[in-house]
Amino acid sequence: MSALTDLPPLRQSLEAHGLMADKGLGQHFLLDLNITRKIARLAGPLDGVKVLEIGPGPGGLTRALLEAGAHLTVVEKDARFLPVLNELAQVSEGRLSIQMADALKVDEAALTGGEPVAIVSNLPYNIGTALLIKWLTGPYRPASMTLMFQKEVAQRIVARPGDDAYGRLAVIAQATAQARIVMEAPARAFTPPPKVDSAVVRLDPLPDRPTEPLLSALERVSQAAFGQRRKMLRSSLKSLGGAELCETAGIDPARRAETLALDEFMSLAAAVLRDEAD
Ligand code: SAM
Repeated sequence: MSALTDLPPLRQSLEAHGLMADKGLGQHFLLDLNITRKIARLAGPLDGVKVLEIGPGPGGLTRALLEAGAHLTVVEKDARFLPVLNELAQVSEGRLSIQMADALKVDEAALTGGEPVAIVSNLPYNIGTALLIKWLTGPYRPASMTLMFQKEVAQRIVARPGDDAYGRLAVIAQATAQARIVMEAPARAFTPPPKVDSAVVRLDPLPDRPTEPLLSALERVSQAAFGQRRKMLRSSLKSLGGAELCETAGIDPARRAETLALDEFMSLAAAVLRDEAD
């Protein structure tokens, strides 16, 4: 048995360090290693692979990622977890680097040596969407993302035209990555249990991500269109050119945002860019 598997159960580690969940930091822990090992498998194979974990907390997912052979950098905001994470570092044969920082502000490339790495996280709910948008549209492009969200957010990421959950998040996520729900986790899997169920989404960034100006136009179009999702495009997109913009893009201005496929949003975004260039 390696020292990693000799560690005390997570619940015992939490108690030994007197650690209680802080709701303000979105803390809901996964203390069942069967669940965290499954998440690591869904992110894998990870043997010898560089991984970035956001919000390791007491380290349940961290243990599973180390067991899978990952070379891991973790970013945690709550300094109370440093002692328990240091214990993990001691048995990790130099494969765990701990950064105490705010994940919204870190420079992922600087932390992980520049190359794209797999990001794996049971995300803090309050900043999950903000972090996802940062990784999908920002300068740092991860190799893959395996992320636990509230189920309702997971459904918004993978939603298709016509689904109630279809909106801006689906458009941005699917324009930049292949996204699918790979696991569901009931609220009772967490300590303390949150009010809602969760799901893990696996996102694999597309090799041909839209250019930065096109992505920015796509964000504006989808924001305007879904901001008034029951209205026809000719009125919801008024500030961007309304019916004329739709016609340039070859889209019927009497349609509504929720009926448009991703490639139709892309045509509208391209038309916005052309208008701006004129
Ligand atoms: N990974 C652990 C698990 O699965 O049991 C904890 C997950 S808990 C849902 C979210 C973790 O993210 C907590 O440890 C919390 O302290 C941390 N966190 C919250 N906001 C953060 C931020 N801005 N930057 C880094 N970590 C943050």
